[in-house]
Amino acid sequence: MAADKKMRRIATEEAWSMPEHMAAILALTKSTWDDLDLRLPRRSAVPNSPLYNGLTDDKRRLEIMDADDVSVHLLSLTSPGVQMFDADTAVGMATLANDRMAETIAKHPTRFAGLASFAPQDPKRAVIEMERAINKLKLNGFILNSHTNGEYLDNPKYWPILEAAEALDRAIYIHPRCPSKHMAALYGDYGMYTALWGFQAEVSVHCMRMILCGLFERFPKLKIVIGHMGESIPYNMWRNDYIYGLHKEWGDVPGNLKPGEVFARNFWITTSGVEHTPALKYCIEVLGADRIMWAIDYPYQVSPPSVKWMNEAEISEADRHKIFHGNAEKIFHIAG
Ligand code: MN
Repeated sequence: MAADKKMRRIATEEAWSMPEHMAAILALTKSTWDDLDLRLPRRSAVPNSPLYNGLTDDKRRLEIMDADDVSVHLLSLTSPGVQMFDADTAVGMATLANDRMAETIAKHPTRFAGLASFAPQDPKRAVIEMERAINKLKLNGFILNSHTNGEYLDNPKYWPILEAAEALDRAIYIHPRCPSKHMAALYGDYGMYTALWGFQAEVSVHCMRMILCGLFERFPKLKIVIGHMGESIPYNMWRNDYIYGLHKEWGDVPGNLKPGEVFARNFWITTSGVEHTPALKYCIEVLGADRIMWAIDYPYQVSPPSVKWMNEAEISEADRHKIFHGNAEKIFHIAG
């Protein structure tokens, strides 16, 4: 049975930006800095390009949502967010973006919710902004675009950020960006720097570093959300756990929980960009429908086929409700 018009549909990985952010990213593309993350913005950050309009035009976004009965977009500052700027620029841009996002939500409080940006380049000021974004601006969680200058959240210098997210009871959505400098040489060719393998390689490495370093023993209630049907991690669960056992014997892995145990306790996934029912059914089977949220990945992915797919996917109606809205309401504190 297909979902009806009255079904609440909360899309949970919907990219958003503002002219100041687009201009700052575009300025980076005009440098001689040859970073994989600057390839896409040469198209998307150009004013009035289709992606630029998709990211910045709220009126157009609402029209597209209305056309498919999409109730809510959970907005997030588009990748790579503030993570390519120097620390001061990043802190200022995160503050401005969060203010602007809160204003956008205030104009359409039943249609938009938002994930707050912060600048990992300065963990202390990141924590201050995270607290402001939740307590004052009432945003719904946090967005992190994977690595920062080639560093990952297993590095203890970033742990104040994890401590804050856990204390605030708000999830961190780890969104892809292009592979870091450590992997860049292998991902620059054949288009592999994007979701053509690079994005899930980047985020899955990030998550495995977090899981295996043992940080989830220190932050047992930390909630991490990843998109793209789990960035390939669910499909490797059995083997990860098996090989983890060997490494425990060899004594070279610090974490004391199996990867599968941590994933089942601390991770949620979204369907962003993956409109594939066999993959969805697999994830429902191994993770449970409580762990899965629907997302479009607008404007990088087209809205109508994503809605149609989730409307019609051959899953139970109870699971469709959880994935379309129930789980997002809980994890992101979106009023029902
Ligand atoms: Mn995305």
